[in-house]
Amino acid sequence: MTATHVNPRTAAPRRARAAWRSFEPRDGREVDLQLREGSDPCCPCCGELLEARPHTRMARYLPLDASGYDLECRGCRRFRCVVRHTVRSLRLLRMRRLAAAVRAMGETGGAVRATA
Ligand SMILES: [Zn+2]
Repeated sequence: MTATHVNPRTAAPRRARAAWRSFEPRDGREVDLQLREGSDPCCPCCGELLEARPHTRMARYLPLDASGYDLECRGCRRFRCVVRHTVRSLRLLRMRRLAAAVRAMGETGGAVRATA
């Protein structure tokens, strides 16, 4: 038996001990970097070669017709979702950001009186 050091902030409930989790943001960026460099991405935690899955666990969070797949490490039960954006999904992302910005402005009391 080995004692595992678990970060209490990111610790999953005991029931979900075997659940898959995405890499920490820092490790995820490391995987992205390896991908951009064109090398076979390895797990930033244990160094094992990451395995590509045909689908992503994050599918329902992907915008519109964007597709994606997971790179996963079986040993660490960690995965990185690689998103393939399309022109449409990128445009939608930008529109959402704009809408959020407009909403934020409204919430700060910047109400405009319409004079017609
Ligand atoms: Zn690993």
